[in-house]
Amino acid sequence: MNVQKVKRIVIKVGSSLVTNNGEGLDHAAIALWANQMASLLKSGYEVLMVSSGAISEGMQRLGWTKRPQDIHQLQAAAAVGQMGLVQVYESCFARFNLRTAQILLTNADLAHEERNTNAKATLDTLLKLGVVPIINENDTVVTDEIKFGDNDSLAALVTNLIHADLLIILTDQGGLYNADPRQDATATLLTHAIAGDPALEKMAGGAASELSKGGMLTKVLAAKIAAKTGASTVIASGHEPNVLTRLLSGESIGTLLNNQ
Ligand code: GLU
Repeated sequence: MNVQKVKRIVIKVGSSLVTNNGEGLDHAAIALWANQMASLLKSGYEVLMVSSGAISEGMQRLGWTKRPQDIHQLQAAAAVGQMGLVQVYESCFARFNLRTAQILLTNADLAHEERNTNAKATLDTLLKLGVVPIINENDTVVTDEIKFGDNDSLAALVTNLIHADLLIILTDQGGLYNADPRQDATATLLTHAIAGDPALEKMAGGAASELSKGGMLTKVLAAKIAAKTGASTVIASGHEPNVLTRLLSGESIGTLLNNQ
């Protein structure tokens, strides 16, 4: 990846990261990312966030300790939790004098010509205003990411929509390994991979699908979608100190997936 050419960046954070493994919204972690995004914005980058965590936060607020099976209960939890999610994003980003905006989207919105054009125009306008869009799936009307994905695919479609140059998927793992690092001590981190390489899908589907709800498979598939509009994808740990600013200074962290 030529970091010099990167201007637009989509940063995706998953539920387990945002809610400290379901323990409640992690204000400290969100503030650390906000701080890094503030410095990226100062350096001239445009940044958008795709964040899940609504269901997890909703379950906390409703006092549910076990994730329900019923899809409508999950949708209800997402509606409750989204309130908390945007509150925390707003207050954490405000500490760095940044404004945020809530955007709720679905895959179908992006596949529909007029909605796609409207969503793109709104996001472009927000970016011009220096506002950081905080995007989640509209879980009230669809269930795609609830069932499978934890927003990995939505983040890739947003990357396509706004022609971002880079998709950064922050997760609770160090990146993409050739085996499950929790079960195999010889597992090694892949620092580079080709987006769309079928071997990766096989590997991620088999070895790492239980690592988080989205698992590595949906991340590998997201990289393939992002590559369609020429974007590179990085899968890296959200716990890595200054992961965003270090990546943009050209450091190799986690796994970089490129078209070649
Ligand atoms: N959009 C959902 C959320 O924000 C997806 C994640 C999930 O299914 O837990 O919680």
